[in-house]
Amino acid sequence: MKVEIITIFPELFSGFLSSSLVAKAQEKNLLTISTLNIRDFADAPHYHVDDTPYGGGAGMLMKPEPLCRAIEDSKSRLPSAKVILLSASGETFTQRKALELSHCSEIILVCGRYEGIDQRVIDLLVDEEISIGDYVLMGGEVPAMVLIEACTRLVSGVVGNEESIETESFRSTDESAQLEAPQYTRPAEFRGHKVPEVLLSGNHKKIAEWRLQESKKLTSKRRKTAAQRNTP
Ligand code: SAM
Repeated sequence: MKVEIITIFPELFSGFLSSSLVAKAQEKNLLTISTLNIRDFADAPHYHVDDTPYGGGAGMLMKPEPLCRAIEDSKSRLPSAKVILLSASGETFTQRKALELSHCSEIILVCGRYEGIDQRVIDLLVDEEISIGDYVLMGGEVPAMVLIEACTRLVSGVVGNEESIETESFRSTDESAQLEAPQYTRPAEFRGHKVPEVLLSGNHKKIAEWRLQESKKLTSKRRKTAAQRNTP
């Protein structure tokens, strides 16, 4: 998978891209992630990337010219890429969406800043707008990292133990068991708290039943069902 991130703050990604599984996946050539600085496409002499909004209002907007040029430059190298704008008003990101995007061979992520971007950039060049949740951040860079982590760990070979992906939260097709059951490691007793007996039993059937039951309990406590979500 090839991902290019279009941003005015490429330096925010240096630690992220050079650490952890994201770095290892790049070393193994499973992923190629690059950044493109929008300022490199701005016009001399001032190299402005923002301007005031028509109609008034608070703050600045990202100008269309440099951003469009940056996206077009990226597209010339990643011609089959889906262009995704990180946006608070986009569709909410989910595990299902992460799985869908993990099958894309090329993705371009556009990070907004200021009060957002000129609508014509979206109309001309953006395929999808994705929000990572109903709150407003200062820029699209952290959302881009969220999307990259969620998608790339589903790319075959990125996570060492793929079984862990099969059993974790949001993989179940059973709506009542979406969240992963509690997990424990050694020691068997810590500060007076014991690991549930069943996990020490070696009985895999009983362990699976316990996990399913705990998963259902946790899901009903912390997540509304689809029916509840549709009830005001
Ligand atoms: N004026 C915009 C609004 O009301 O929706 C918020 C702009 S925000 C300060 C600047 C940039 O941060 C956005 O263009 C977007 O790229 C990014 N951003 C902020 N919150 C986000 C979220 N929840 N998900 C994805 N991107 C977000």
